[in-house]
Amino acid sequence: MTETQTQPSLDEFRREAHAVLSAIVPRRRAEDRPGGTDAEPRRYALFSGSTAEEVRAAVEYQRQLFDAGLGWVSGPVEDGGAGLPTAYERALAGVEREFEVPSKSPLSVSLGMVSPTIARFASESTKRRWLLALRRADAIGCQLFSEPSAGSDLAAVTTRAVREGDNWVLNGQKVWTSGAHYSDVGIVLARTAAGPRYRNLTTFAVDMHAPGVEVRRLRQITGGADFNEVFLSDVRVSDADRLGEVDAGWSVAMAMLMFEREAIGGSSSGGSGLFRMDRLAQWLRDLGRADDPAVAQAFARVYSGVTAAKAMRARADANLRANGVPGPEMSLGKLALTANLAALSDVVSLALGPLLAADTGHADTFAWSEFVLGVPGMRIGGGTDEIHRNTVAERALGLPKDTQPTLSSKGT
Ligand SMILES: Cc1cc2nc3c(=O)[nH]c(=O)nc-3n(C[C@H](O)[C@H](O)[C@H](O)COP(=O)(O)OP(=O)(O)OC[C@H]3O[C@@H](n4cnc5c(N)ncnc54)[C@H](O)[C@@H]3O)c2cc1C
Repeated sequence: MTETQTQPSLDEFRREAHAVLSAIVPRRRAEDRPGGTDAEPRRYALFSGSTAEEVRAAVEYQRQLFDAGLGWVSGPVEDGGAGLPTAYERALAGVEREFEVPSKSPLSVSLGMVSPTIARFASESTKRRWLLALRRADAIGCQLFSEPSAGSDLAAVTTRAVREGDNWVLNGQKVWTSGAHYSDVGIVLARTAAGPRYRNLTTFAVDMHAPGVEVRRLRQITGGADFNEVFLSDVRVSDADRLGEVDAGWSVAMAMLMFEREAIGGSSSGGSGLFRMDRLAQWLRDLGRADDPAVAQAFARVYSGVTAAKAMRARADANLRANGVPGPEMSLGKLALTANLAALSDVVSLALGPLLAADTGHADTFAWSEFVLGVPGMRIGGGTDEIHRNTVAERALGLPKDTQPTLSSKGT
């Protein structure tokens, strides 16, 4: 949308989005639910490792959305976005639920975290190089924050960046980097000076294909390999690719973590469709397990958790609209998400019993095992449960500060 165009009403926007999606993806079938009649068993994996095919499908879909003007609905017009309020993003997500949209998870870090960080902190030349490419999925981004000895205590990173003329030379090791193996640009937090912990770090946008960047896959319990170790050996980065000021990388990192918490917290009541209670109930009936008292009780726990998360999300949205900045409710959203995923994992495990571990070929039984194995990782990625509880305790309840300041706590 250009500045001279008037903003469509939400209903007009939904109709337009519906027309675009009808042209590029099939409608979701009524019987498409766990236990439905799909010929192809679905995957409910959380960290199973996006297959090359899933990455391709996500990229292709994002390109089509972008070319139809829906690839960056709330992005600023001057950066190539449609300049609409975030309510329109949610309206698009609502329309997408009516269609067989490919999983967006291969691009979640790229679009939800890397792109807004570059939009806010990069130089004009770096923005020109990456921003629209990321939004159109012509390039994919990842986050290179965690290190073997720096996770929750992110300010302990030891990767060093040393200035050499117009360049910086980076050396160090990152770990748990989601999607690094298919990424083109990575946001690196590195130490640039001695001195106080939070005032000697700088953030860079690093070309993942540059000489000296080595990506090694890590295999997970789910069988997938979505994480990586990334070794940086004399990697040269132009000063123009610095994000924010020298030695002020901590505030860039914190902003990126807020983008991350916003993205993750928003899905606590069902962004991915996993928490569709009507589908879950129907699936339990189809399996003949709905009358088991233990299953029914576990279902009630998911149901009440998801209902509470929806109410909390509505309140967080209202706060955000009123104050313009996300508050500690983002941490509550992440905690609600992990609790709801764990409750869903319980109900699925109780309902399936041994079917969970045996590939019988029956649609939507074995597929859940990847999900159940992936749930514990959700308690760690995006900031651990303990770190989010610290945030809520300190910032919402006003309790005394942790001895390890929560400000140094990472979430990815
Ligand atoms: C699914 C997933 C995706 C990820 N993706 C990325 C990515 O793309 N990029 C990236 O940079 N990193 C990523 N990570 C890494 C993630 O950010 C870290 O694993 C996380 O911050 C925890 O750090 P750690 O593993 O070093 O654990 P530690 O920080 O060593 O924590 C170990 C335990 O101690 C607890 N603990 C630590 N400090 C405190 C405290 N102050 N108070 C109470 N308890 C505490 C923790 O809660 C945890 O239980 C990902 C991790 C996962 C699981």
